[in-house]
Amino acid sequence: MAAVNYGAELIGRRAVVTGAASGIGAACAKALAAHGVWTACADIVSPDQTVAKIEADAGRSIPITCDVSSEEDVLALFARVRQRIGRLDFLVHCAGVIHEKPLLETETKDFDRVMNINLRGTFLVGREGIRAMHPAGGRVILIASDLGYLGRETFSPYVASKHGVMGLMRSWAKEFAPQTLVNAICPGPIDTAMLSSDQMTEEWRQKEMDIPLARFGAPEDIADMAVFLTTDSSRFITGQGMNVNGGSVMP
Ligand code: NAD
Repeated sequence: MAAVNYGAELIGRRAVVTGAASGIGAACAKALAAHGVWTACADIVSPDQTVAKIEADAGRSIPITCDVSSEEDVLALFARVRQRIGRLDFLVHCAGVIHEKPLLETETKDFDRVMNINLRGTFLVGREGIRAMHPAGGRVILIASDLGYLGRETFSPYVASKHGVMGLMRSWAKEFAPQTLVNAICPGPIDTAMLSSDQMTEEWRQKEMDIPLARFGAPEDIADMAVFLTTDSSRFITGQGMNVNGGSVMP
């Protein structure tokens, strides 16, 4: 299905997308660029392929390598963006990792890694992204999860990190209203490298298919929502988890 046409509304706006080398982040970066948004693509691995696709489709983009759990990297990311394009309009923060292991086999370093990337990373990127939108404000879109609402056996560090992301989102929505609207997208199972990674068991994949719409989502299902959240059509939405999940969770 074709994406919604927002006309010229987004042309020339400026975005940072993290996790842009693959999956949901790559889809968000391409979708924003297709609407005319200048899109900085950040990831810990090279986002060159995403940037090449955007440029091949006549979009504007730059690749930036950045570990979102490193304050130094995140400050350098936004310094580079400021230098190249000035003020920022949109932040779509997708970078994240998953971890599946029974609690009694989970080591402290596993917990620290997930929390550093998913929660500390969101704190750092969100803080610097909001600073880069100051004073006019903009739109912040965090990628949480349907596990930002639920408990799930064998995923407790990941679940805790995504509950934390929801807390940051709600707090920032209050702190930066009305200039900046802050929302999260809470995907259900989406067909990306994260779900096919060897950390995920076949049993878990089967369980994830047991949802009303009976399929994994596509990264573009999330990207369409991200683009919507940058437009004037979403002007009265802030502090919300937008559930794009095939019915996996009905909070
Ligand atoms: P993915 O593995 O395809 O993409 C994640 C990206 O994050 C990768 O490009 C990876 O290199 C990048 N990344 C990892 N650690 C990083 C770091 N320290 N610094 C910068 N970048 C880093 O997975 P995805 O499914 O596209 O995941 C994107 C987001 O969506 C994640 O936050 C994930 O938790 C969330 N999510 C995914 C699903 C799903 O079913 N796929 C469901 C709910 C939420």
